[in-house]
Amino acid sequence: MDKIVALCKRRGFIYPGSEIYGGITGFWDYGPLGVELKNNIKREWWKSIVYDRDDVVGIDAAIIMNPEVWKASGHLDAFTDPLVECKTCHHRFRIDHLPGVSREEKYYKFDQYPFPCPTGGHEINLGMLNKLPKEIKSIEPRHFNLLVEAKIGVVEGEKKTAYLRGEITQGAFVNFENIVNSSRVKIPFGIAQIGKAFRNEITPGNFTFRSREFEQMELEFLVKPDDRESNKWFEYWRKERMRWYLDLGMKKENLRFRIHEESERAHYARSAEDIEYNAPFGWSEFEGIHHRGDWDLSRHNLKYKDERAKEEFTPWVIETSGGVDRSTLFFLVDSYYEDEKRVVLKLHPKLAPVKVAVFPLLANKLPLVKMAKDIYHNLKEQINGMIAFDDRGNIGKRYYSQDEIGTPFCVTIDFQSIEDKTVTIRDRDTMKQERLEISKLQEYLKKKLS
Ligand code: ATP
Repeated sequence: MDKIVALCKRRGFIYPGSEIYGGITGFWDYGPLGVELKNNIKREWWKSIVYDRDDVVGIDAAIIMNPEVWKASGHLDAFTDPLVECKTCHHRFRIDHLPGVSREEKYYKFDQYPFPCPTGGHEINLGMLNKLPKEIKSIEPRHFNLLVEAKIGVVEGEKKTAYLRGEITQGAFVNFENIVNSSRVKIPFGIAQIGKAFRNEITPGNFTFRSREFEQMELEFLVKPDDRESNKWFEYWRKERMRWYLDLGMKKENLRFRIHEESERAHYARSAEDIEYNAPFGWSEFEGIHHRGDWDLSRHNLKYKDERAKEEFTPWVIETSGGVDRSTLFFLVDSYYEDEKRVVLKLHPKLAPVKVAVFPLLANKLPLVKMAKDIYHNLKEQINGMIAFDDRGNIGKRYYSQDEIGTPFCVTIDFQSIEDKTVTIRDRDTMKQERLEISKLQEYLKKKLS
């Protein structure tokens, strides 16, 4: 992880938020390459979920909604994490993140006490526990609401409390009627959305993995309230989402499904599975596939009218909820490769922030630079995505610099190029170079990049 974090900062993928003012825990800024990678991930997701299908439409709902939404959805009462505080250092922890803790109904049981405090150096002192005889070893933690509050209005004293959305999901449900009435969707159909969510996480950490501001990409797929039909779609979407990560190059051995135990499922969830990644800090969830039943639409009193069958019902929802930041992090981790000579991000060409880098062999030979600039400008027009130009240092260093950010191809213009209108094209992964006519460059790159 240290290597990834350092690379992200050095090369402009991800920086600590507000760094010149000392940072702010749980917030991160994406740099020039990070924003490209993140946008590429979102674009591929949107393409596979919306453009490539004819049963899903997109929306972009507001981050702040009427607080009644959060009351109806249950978030004001139940969007909580179990919190304990170490009375020695006053750091707060999610009790379910401490080692050796298991959940039992509303209590947490643990097999050792006192715990070593995760901040190190002393034993955690859970305050309330002091009063309990040691043999009890169970605790009802305080529940801490994760919704981030915002004050809306201009007159002091009349400002209204609202919430930054804790998940983007509700924006899809509250627009259900609008979408049905304004587009031609018929059940089964899906509502797709990508956007920011905010949570007052108790323990932000593991780089961007647990942030307080993050982005989600979600599909709410509405189906008939029927066991067979909904189970079929649940099965379909869990496979489809795993396939998407594999198609974009994630290594199979680093991915797995984890079925939620009954005790950890939301009470309304009929089934839930996570897609987990084998992260340097352990297997970790980065997408959830949830069978939410009719919970959401019935909480908002929404129904669907099937005109043809002349029936009215509350649809059931199969949800796929992925984290854009967690995917970005795991695509970086998964593609990281190093040997004695170089560091390479073996990102899928569709995700690579820079698609092609163009080099004149020597920076001080005008005809080479001119030809390289022409090719660079042409590629900018022809290729969808970022094209780089570099004339610093020697060619070897330029290659390694592009390898480190995952650029799939480098094109070099040398003296032979002026004579016979050919260039060398070098492949990031094989490091092989081949000569190609300039007139065939566009076609070659377009094919390889897709
Ligand atoms: P966790 O158990 O890790 O807190 P969760 O089960 O609460 O996550 P969901 O509410 O299912 O997560 O959210 C769906 C997705 O949103 C997650 O799989 C993850 O990719 C992303 N996500 C949730 N919380 C965060 C966060 N604090 N930082 C970054 N991404 C997040």
